[in-house]
Amino acid sequence: ARYARATLARQTARGPRPADGEVLLSATGLTKSYAGADGELPVLSGIDLTIRAGEVVALLGKSGSGKSTLLRCLAGLIPASSGTVTYKDTPLTGANPGTAMVFQNFALLPWLTVQQNVELGLEAKGVPAAERADAALRAIDLIGLDGFESAYPKELSGGMRQRVGFARALVVEPDVLLMDEPFSALDVLTAENLRGELMELWESGQFPTRSIVLVTHNIEEAVLMADRIVILGSRPYRTIRDEFEVSLDRPRERDSAAFQDLID
Ligand code: ADP
Ligand code: MG
Repeated sequence: ARYARATLARQTARGPRPADGEVLLSATGLTKSYAGADGELPVLSGIDLTIRAGEVVALLGKSGSGKSTLLRCLAGLIPASSGTVTYKDTPLTGANPGTAMVFQNFALLPWLTVQQNVELGLEAKGVPAAERADAALRAIDLIGLDGFESAYPKELSGGMRQRVGFARALVVEPDVLLMDEPFSALDVLTAENLRGELMELWESGQFPTRSIVLVTHNIEEAVLMADRIVILGSRPYRTIRDEFEVSLDRPRERDSAAFQDLID
């Protein structure tokens, strides 16, 4: 039922999100190589990308095309080999202060409770200990984990664990929420529910995140969630191959088959 509502929401106008178009995040001439046994392995070359307030952007590409690498560069978790990433006109020199990340494998610490895991997000952003509990409890409530504050990750289902992942990211109120295949470790129904709830939450304005970057290899997910789809080519392109606006009037016109050709 939630999924149906989310689908409907995409066929009508976006909710009350600010679509003010301010550039929040940008990559210019971004290149990234990893050191390998045979020298440098180029993974990204010449990426130009702009993320504006109010939009959901999906980065779509097949496995190994460099989606996670690009997202980590945007988060400032790894440095670019050349080119720049800027957050609100300030070039990054380390972790991006305007972003928080949700990971495919949840990346929870198993020896910490739900609340402690969520508070880690705040700790990472330097929020004093005394201020962490209230914010963490609010995020836990918002994401539907009320009553599970003291549970440990191993006591939770995959969907619930990823809810903790979302709470840990949202608690810091990032301008840009970065998600790396956040639903791909979940079964289909759990993924659909969580997707729908997240979009409802975003459209309701209950958390102040202003734009979302979603990495996915799931074409339908990209069409369902994103306003814009950016396609990363793999060898030998290693750069942005194409870009599409997802039309609100006819979001499904570009069906999966049309995209499939583009990401091969
Ligand atoms: P995707 O998320 O699209 O699957 P990745 O960004 O994870 O792609 O990886 C792109 C390429 O970079 C792959 O060939 C992968 O093996 C390589 N790679 C990723 N991370 C590292 C790393 N830390 N060291 C060396 N090579 C890496
Ligand atoms: Mg990846």
